[in-house]
Amino acid sequence: MKKLFAIALLLGMLLTACQSGNEEQGSTKEEAASQQQKTEKKEITKEEIDLNTKPNEAGQIMILMYHNISTPEAEWVRTPENFRKDLQALYDQGYLPISLTDYVNGNITAPAGKSPYVLTFDDGRENNFNYLEDGSINPDSAVGIIMEFAEKYDDFEPRATFFVNGTGRFGPKEEVQKKFDFLVENGMEVGNHTINHPNMKTLDASGVQKEIGGQKAYLEESFSKPYNINTLALPFGSRPDKSLYNYLETGSYEGKDYKNIAILNVGWDPNPSPYHTDFDPLAIHRVRASETNVDDVGIYDWIEILKNHPKRRFVSDGAANIVTVPQGLEENVKAPEGKELLVY
Ligand SMILES: [Zn+2]
Repeated sequence: MKKLFAIALLLGMLLTACQSGNEEQGSTKEEAASQQQKTEKKEITKEEIDLNTKPNEAGQIMILMYHNISTPEAEWVRTPENFRKDLQALYDQGYLPISLTDYVNGNITAPAGKSPYVLTFDDGRENNFNYLEDGSINPDSAVGIIMEFAEKYDDFEPRATFFVNGTGRFGPKEEVQKKFDFLVENGMEVGNHTINHPNMKTLDASGVQKEIGGQKAYLEESFSKPYNINTLALPFGSRPDKSLYNYLETGSYEGKDYKNIAILNVGWDPNPSPYHTDFDPLAIHRVRASETNVDDVGIYDWIEILKNHPKRRFVSDGAANIVTVPQGLEENVKAPEGKELLVY
């Protein structure tokens, strides 16, 4: 068996080598280079920061919460048409998606003058990621729409986190690995949404650890390469008793430890900059990406509020190694180790 695997691996390597060696076969190499350029961290000096782009890395960032992408539109359903409209509205207002991991790690590489945001989808619905009969990704699924947008705009990278609960995992069992692998290969992420989607209030310590640790182990088996599930979206945004909060972050189930770097609530407002002293990666607020029953705090309300209150909005300086904030906003900002603070 091992031998077979080794042969398959070798064949795969040979195939890859052939492809990149054959320039007529298309732009495999160029694509790879441009993809790398896109995600490469830019390290520049303070003097090179373009202050005309009005960077504000003290500002807030929207973590958008979606569920279904389907029809008809409803409280927890966004139509494909409306999801496209959301991406376009954000893009037109200077927003670009970043990964949840980069957000919590303060690794913000959005170009100067752009505002990062984070896309999240709960419940692992089939309408988030499915295939047409010919095997192509359904262009009206969440993943189809994100990839279509990335194709259309050079500076838009496909970044999103899919929080999966139970055994669903976007529908048919036999497609799971292909789908999970595709997400990771394209810069997207899979997160934990527990086994049974319980109200966490009803659970004791072992219940909390089973729901989180059990689902983590289950999901991780579905990738062809090692993958660490380390982000958690709380079902209904519910938390257990305060004395058990630590089990949301770290715990153990069936001999396997887990550690979450991000815990997401539901919510109604953007979250602080990862450089702000109020930033708590273990209690991240989300903005509902909807126009139904959002009580004036939905995605379009916040696009408008942040447009009218630039001090509240995170605007990138385009440098990975510098945290740039306008004068007067520096008080609650701390540049993490390895980064410099620039106040202007
Ligand atoms: Zn859910």
